[in-house]
Amino acid sequence: MMNLALFGGTFDPVHLGHLAVARAAAATFDLKKIYFVPASVPPHKAEQPVTAFEHRYAMLALATADDARFLPSLLEAPGYGSEPRANYTIATVRQFKKNLGKAGRTFFLIGIDAFLEIGHWREAEALLGEMEFIVVSRPGFSLGDVGAALPEKLRPPEAVSQVMHRHPATGDILLPGVTVHLLQGVAENVSATRIRQAAQKGRPLDSLVGPAVANYIRKQGLYRDTRARPPASKTGEVWQPASETGMLPAEGARRQD
Ligand code: ATP
Repeated sequence: MMNLALFGGTFDPVHLGHLAVARAAAATFDLKKIYFVPASVPPHKAEQPVTAFEHRYAMLALATADDARFLPSLLEAPGYGSEPRANYTIATVRQFKKNLGKAGRTFFLIGIDAFLEIGHWREAEALLGEMEFIVVSRPGFSLGDVGAALPEKLRPPEAVSQVMHRHPATGDILLPGVTVHLLQGVAENVSATRIRQAAQKGRPLDSLVGPAVANYIRKQGLYRDTRARPPASKTGEVWQPASETGMLPAEGARRQD
């Protein structure tokens, strides 16, 4: 059975940290494909606007072009599918598995900072049961932190939690209804927030996002203007290209869940 993974994020923009994570996960868990799923973040939900889905998708297409295992995904594209798009990870994961049929073992790839919020996501328990999780760990986090992030019903018993707090976040957590694999030593010191700030100052981005994405950001004038706000579109979700509207950088914008 083929091992496949979803990698969700805002990807505003995708950067070399994301790619390092994907490569390490692919090697460790023998992943044949990793689908990078840029989240559609409707303007009214974001604390600060996120760059148009189309730009984030285009940058993912450029960033993943050289690796046959990595694919940009339209699962959360505005207007994807016949039903009105539910903007929650649980819906995305179910749609992915439906498309897949029975053909694979599926993983959800996520950074530990994002995973620590998972107890607040829509239908968190169900979501954790849908796929195995690969959580990219960083020094300073314990197994107990990971356990404590689980929704109440899935959390380990108190005595176990106490032991977990004394262990670094490595190895696997196998509990009824949830499997978490910790992936160590790949978190790089790069974030989309830092990249948007560098872009705004006109700094070169090649070493943070690679040349193709850096050129795209430059050509489209992304992450430049911090004053203008994108106009409301008819659907409320598809925005004009940033170069025409002047898009705010997306610092602080988060997935909705
Ligand atoms: P921002 O700075 O805007 O918060 P980000 O760089 O964290 O963005 P996201 O699109 O939010 O990028 O990240 C998608 C996923 O990748 C999340 O699960 C996040 O935890 C993880 N991730 C992002 N950057 C790194 C990194 N340098 N090392 C490990 N994981 C990362």
